[in-house]
Amino acid sequence: MSEIAENFQAVQAEIAKAASAIGRDPDRVSLVAVSKRQGPERILPALQAGHRLFGENRVQEAQGKWPDLRAAYPDARLHLIGPLQTNKVKEALALFDAIQTLDREKLAIALAKARDQGAALPDLLVQVNTGEESQKAGIAPQQAEEFIAHCRTDLALPVTGVMCIPPVDEEPAFHFGLLAGIQERCGLRDLSMGMSGDYPTAVSMGATMIRVGTALFGSRPPV
Ligand SMILES: *Cc1c(COP(=O)(O)O)cnc(C)c1O
Repeated sequence: MSEIAENFQAVQAEIAKAASAIGRDPDRVSLVAVSKRQGPERILPALQAGHRLFGENRVQEAQGKWPDLRAAYPDARLHLIGPLQTNKVKEALALFDAIQTLDREKLAIALAKARDQGAALPDLLVQVNTGEESQKAGIAPQQAEEFIAHCRTDLALPVTGVMCIPPVDEEPAFHFGLLAGIQERCGLRDLSMGMSGDYPTAVSMGATMIRVGTALFGSRPPV
């Protein structure tokens, strides 16, 4: 078995352990394999091992990498987990099966406009800036419920969930709890939280999607 296939088994086992410890069905946790900055030589072993759900953080990089991979594996699905510029919306809609980074009004309006012009919209997750970090994208937690209601009601956007990236130097559980509360109060299906360093905690706090890169593919080349 390839090293990457072994990593997938190990992560799946951790998910199962964290889920069963609180009586959750591990199959209800989707593993988004974050393949940003990884080349086909690391992504192919994951596809060959049967994995089909991947996350990329740049539209342009995904556009370069995924057409060939998808030609070989047409059922592979791709989530955008990085910031989306409004001038890249059309390209993103052509490529991604979910956009996890709906993080501002301007993008919501651009997505609604693309839909009005005939584009099909994928599942959308609202990114919440739970740590209220100025350098990080996302809706402030106090405004999240109002923003989500606005997107769903006024703009008729298919918002299915929320996602967060906690501050690196803080206890993630606080942020996961904050996000889970927003998900619950809004009655949303998807709760995207947890990365290589903290996904078992996220699973035990109700994550339905975890986004794991390094633990599956190894370290990434620098930007
Ligand atoms: C890179 C990235 C991840 C994966 O991070 P790892 O620590 O490598 O697991 C998850 N979510 C987002 C939004 C990312 O940009």
